[in-house]
Amino acid sequence: MEVHVLASGSDGNCTVIKNDDEAVMVDAGYNCKTLCHLMELEGIDPGCIKAVLVTHEHTDHVSSIRVLNNKFGYPVYTTPATFDAFDHGNAKLNPIVRGSTFEVCGMTVRSLPTSHDAVEPTAYSFTADGKTVSIITDTGILTKPCQDALRVSDLAILEANYDNQMLSDNPLYPPALKSRIRSDMGHLCNTDSGKFVAETLTPRNRKLFLAHLSRKNNTPDLARETVSRMSGIPRFKIDCLEYKGDTRTVKF
Ligand SMILES: [Zn+2]
Ligand SMILES: [Zn+2]
Repeated sequence: MEVHVLASGSDGNCTVIKNDDEAVMVDAGYNCKTLCHLMELEGIDPGCIKAVLVTHEHTDHVSSIRVLNNKFGYPVYTTPATFDAFDHGNAKLNPIVRGSTFEVCGMTVRSLPTSHDAVEPTAYSFTADGKTVSIITDTGILTKPCQDALRVSDLAILEANYDNQMLSDNPLYPPALKSRIRSDMGHLCNTDSGKFVAETLTPRNRKLFLAHLSRKNNTPDLARETVSRMSGIPRFKIDCLEYKGDTRTVKF
């Protein structure tokens, strides 16, 4: 398996997971033109993508679903309630049930309920050839299914949305918004992420990628530093996107 993180954070989210010649996209929350450009940079043929899995209906995860469907006809995998909650144009729905397991592109996909202010938020875990990658973002707490998935993941892509102090000090965020972000239905902060990594760390967790970093309330250095301190994983072994337009290929 090969994972391409094309975008991750408040600006938009999109990851492509390639298994042999086929691939799935997880979320498409970036404008279509930029996504196509990023795919080209990463050497991804848009024709190899067979499905787009949607985690939840927030704009930073679905903004280009309609246009991508017009261009490439990608079918959407998500729950019917989530599908109805965003502009999907005439994309075709492959309905899934939260918590269920299904097959796509030769991979076994587990949908993992998350805790977020969306209708039926879900994270996904992918297994092929004995290797597992989990992508867990947009969740205020790490639910039991997410914790279980992290324990058996060879690559964990885990949210580290904000630094507590930076969020507290941010004058542009009203108190209600800060509370929403910090709530059980919000996002994981760097220390949450560090705590869960420490708790779920097993010899199997070989790779860690921090995701969905806020551009206004976090920095890549702070996120890496905090998670490294709390989990004991050396800092240089923890990766994340560094700037807008940065992408990453993770082979494992
Ligand atoms: Zn998000
Ligand atoms: Zn969200």
